[in-house]
Amino acid sequence: MPLDGIPDGYRAGLEDLVRVFTPPARKSIAEWAGGPDGHPEQAKRILTSKTSAYPGPWRNDRVPYLPGIMDALDDRHPAPIIVVCKSAQSCVSEVLLNWIGRSMDAMPAAFLALWPSVEVGKKWTRTRVRPMILGVPGMRMQMSSGQKRPDSTLLELHWPGGVLNIGSMNKPDDVATVSVPNIIVDDADRAPLTLAGEGDPFELALMRSSTFERRKAAIVSTPTDIDRSRIWPWWLRSTMDRFFVPCIHCNHMQHLRFAQLKWIKGKPSSAMYECEECSALMENRHKKRILADGEWRAEHPERETQVKGFHVIGLYAPVGLGYEWALHADAWERAQGSDARIQVFYNTRLGEVHKGERQRVEWAEIKARAEPYALRSVPRGTLLLVSGTDVQADRLETQVLGFGRGERIVVVDTVVHYGDTTRLLPSGDGEASVWAKLDEYLAGAFQSSRDVPMRLSCSLVDSGYLTDVVLGFTRPRKARNIFACRGSANASRQPIGRPSYPDVKRRGKADTRGAERYELGVSMLKHWLFEALRADAGKPDAPVLPADRHIRFSNELPDEYYRQLTAETYDPKHGWIPRANYHRNESLDTFVYARAAAMHHSVAVHRLRDADWERLESLYEPAAGGAKPTAPVLGVSPIARMGSFLPTSAQVRNE
Ligand SMILES: [Zn+2]
Repeated sequence: MPLDGIPDGYRAGLEDLVRVFTPPARKSIAEWAGGPDGHPEQAKRILTSKTSAYPGPWRNDRVPYLPGIMDALDDRHPAPIIVVCKSAQSCVSEVLLNWIGRSMDAMPAAFLALWPSVEVGKKWTRTRVRPMILGVPGMRMQMSSGQKRPDSTLLELHWPGGVLNIGSMNKPDDVATVSVPNIIVDDADRAPLTLAGEGDPFELALMRSSTFERRKAAIVSTPTDIDRSRIWPWWLRSTMDRFFVPCIHCNHMQHLRFAQLKWIKGKPSSAMYECEECSALMENRHKKRILADGEWRAEHPERETQVKGFHVIGLYAPVGLGYEWALHADAWERAQGSDARIQVFYNTRLGEVHKGERQRVEWAEIKARAEPYALRSVPRGTLLLVSGTDVQADRLETQVLGFGRGERIVVVDTVVHYGDTTRLLPSGDGEASVWAKLDEYLAGAFQSSRDVPMRLSCSLVDSGYLTDVVLGFTRPRKARNIFACRGSANASRQPIGRPSYPDVKRRGKADTRGAERYELGVSMLKHWLFEALRADAGKPDAPVLPADRHIRFSNELPDEYYRQLTAETYDPKHGWIPRANYHRNESLDTFVYARAAAMHHSVAVHRLRDADWERLESLYEPAAGGAKPTAPVLGVSPIARMGSFLPTSAQVRNE
C-alpha cells in the first residue's frame, strides 16, 4: 500500500502514473492468437481461406492439443528445447507462426528459422509468414525484408525491435553467421544429413544461442527412417508428452494408439476406437468431446526443464481437420504388402519411425556378443541382483539379472525347477514341492567379484497362470521382497506401478497386509529390451565395447536362451506377437519380470545416485587389502535396508 496516507488529489494523479508506466500483462502465445478466455474478439491471428479450412480468427478450442505446445514455446516455460514429433496434418506449423507473430506484435525478438532448403524457406515466408503478418491489425506497415549479405542465402524479415532470419538446413556456413535466441527447425527430417566434418545446422544454431539467457529452440518434424531421423532421438530424450483423453464410457484417461483402432477386415468405414480400459467403442464423432477434455501428460516429467517433447499422431485430427479414423484404417489396409507404403503410413499417420525388419533382433547376433564369464558368477561392477520367475504347469523358470552403474545389466543365471507347480505343499509321501526348490534358490547367496555374499534384492513371480498358488507362495515371503506379478495388456502401462492387494478382509476390503501383486507394463519393458539390444549392436564404424553394453551375456547360455529372448516382434496393429517358428519365450518373460523387479520401489535402480552406487561398491567390491566385511548379510539387499524396511525375525530365521 505505498499510496496510503497521501492526499486524495495527489493520489489519483500518482495512480494514473502507475497505470501508464505498468506494461500490460503480457499475453501468452495462445491468448495472443485466439484472444484471452471468453474474448475471442481479441484474437490477433486471422486465418485466410488460402491456408485454412476455417478462415477467420484463430480459436484455441478448435485443436485442443495446440495450446499446450504454445505454452511450452512461451519463455515463461523453463525448457530451452521444444520437440514436436508429429504426423502430417497436425496443425503444429501454425503454432510456430503464432509464436513468431506474438513476438513481432508484442515484444522485440530475433528468430532463425531453418528449412530443408532455401526454396522451401522462401516459399514459407511468402505463403505463410507474410499472410500472417498482413492479417495482424496494425502490423502491416512495419515490415521490410531482404537478403542478409550478397554471399549468403539467408533471408531477413525486419520489424521494429526484431528480425526473422530464414535459412536452410543444408547451408551450415550461413547458420554459423547468425546468433539469435530463438530457433525454429521445421520438417527437420526432410533436410539432408550434413557431411562428416560439417556441423549439423541445428546443433550449430543451438550452440550459438547458448549465450542468451532466455533462449528457445523448437524442432518439429514428421519422423522418417530410424537411421537418419533427426527428430526421433530428440523425442526420446524429451519429457515425452502424449495427449491423454478420457473414454466417453468409463472416463479412463489414455493416449490414442493405432492398435486400439478396430474395424471389420475389408470394411475400414466400420473403424471405431476401443477404450484400453473398458473395451467399449468410441466413434469418430466423439472425438470433439474427448479432445476438449484432453491433457498433455509427460512420461518423463523430470526432464521438464531441459527438453519438452510432444507427440501428435493422426488419430487426434479434430473432426473437420484432417483424416477421420476410417481413413486411417483404409490407408493401413491399402498399405499392406508394400514396405514403402507401410513406412509412409508410420511416418505420416502415426508420427513414428518405421523400423520394419529392423524391429526384429536376430538371436545369433546377440549370441555373438556373449562374453567368457560363468553363469552364477557375478562380474565386476555388478552390485545388485534381482530375479523374475515364469510359471508353467511342469516347471518354474527363473532368470537372475545383475545391475551396475548406468543400469547396465548382466545376465547372471537362468535356472529351471521341474515339478508339479499346482502343488504348494509336500506330497503325501513327503516329496518336496517344486516351490520349495524355488524358495531355496531365491534364498541362496551369490558371490560378488570380491567374494562377498550377495542376495536377491527383489523377486517377481508371474501369477497370470496359477494365481492362487503363486499368491500362496509369495504372501508369506513379502518381507524377503518376493512378490507376485502379472503382465498387463495395456501398452501404455508403466513398467511397474503400485501393488494391488488381492487378499480380502471379512467385509470385502482389500487387505494391505496380505499378498501384494504388481501389474507390469510388459509392452514398454519389451520395447526397452529390444531398443537396448539394438543399440548394443553399434554401427560398423563404431562398435559398442562390452563394458558399454546395456546388456551382457555369458557364453554359457544355450542357443535356446537367445531364441526365446528374441521370440517376439512388435506390430503396431497387434502389439507384441510371437514370431513364426519361435515356440517358447520364457527367457524373454523372465528377463522382463526381473527388469521390472529392479524398478520395484524397494530397489528403484533407476533412481540410484552415485552415492548409492559407491555405498554398494564399498560393500561388495571393497578395495584390495581392505578388510572383508564380516557383518552378517541378511536375505535382502542393503538397498532395501537403506529404506524403511527392517528385517523381521522370520527373515533372520531363514538365514
Ligand atoms: Zn472406457
